Amino acid sequence: MLNIIIFGAPGSGKGTQSLKLIEKYGLKHISTGDLLRSEIKAGTDLGRLAESYMSQGKLVPDDIVIGMIENLIKEHPDATGFIFDGFPRTLAQGKALYEVLEQNGQDLSVVLSLEVEDKELVERLLKRGEISGRSDDNRETIEARLQVYYDQTAPLKDYYQGKRKLEKIKGQGSIEDIFASIERVVDGLIE
Ligand code: AMP
Repeated sequence: MLNIIIFGAPGSGKGTQSLKLIEKYGLKHISTGDLLRSEIKAGTDLGRLAESYMSQGKLVPDDIVIGMIENLIKEHPDATGFIFDGFPRTLAQGKALYEVLEQNGQDLSVVLSLEVEDKELVERLLKRGEISGRSDDNRETIEARLQVYYDQTAPLKDYYQGKRKLEKIKGQGSIEDIFASIERVVDGLIE
């Protein structure tokens, strides 16, 4: 089993690189952001609640996202592995993921941390907002999301460093070059 966390600030390329990872390694992709956006689209109670946080660039409460992840892992006992994209985002989520993987007889393979400078993150997100129309990709919400990332999410890097699971990847350059760095790490885990 390969269980990979793709980690990084908003706009660091987690979604893009996840798609390439799935293509090459056949993993099941779990993006909490995508899951929450589909709840919003479907007009569910959970979606309405999530939207009230997401529209402000704040994190959706831990118990909600942890519950979603637990269900998904349990629902896919035959998966060859998971790629967690945008999860965990807090220390509580990180600890919960460890536990749920353990309960299902699995462990975490690696945390790939995409390292991108702030200036480039903002440029990428503004551009994405123009193309995809994602409502949280506007300047004000982008700034809030980056602040949330540094306050609540970035400290997870120390947590994973302590567990010897953290691999930093230069997240600037061409998509192909970034993926080549990722492949080197992941292939090293398989061999
Ligand atoms: P993303 O698509 O990963 O950029 O996530 C978009 C928004 O969804 C975030 O700004 C949060 O409001 C919410 N979200 C996604 N994943 C999580 C998570 N693991 N914990 C809390 N909130 C999340």
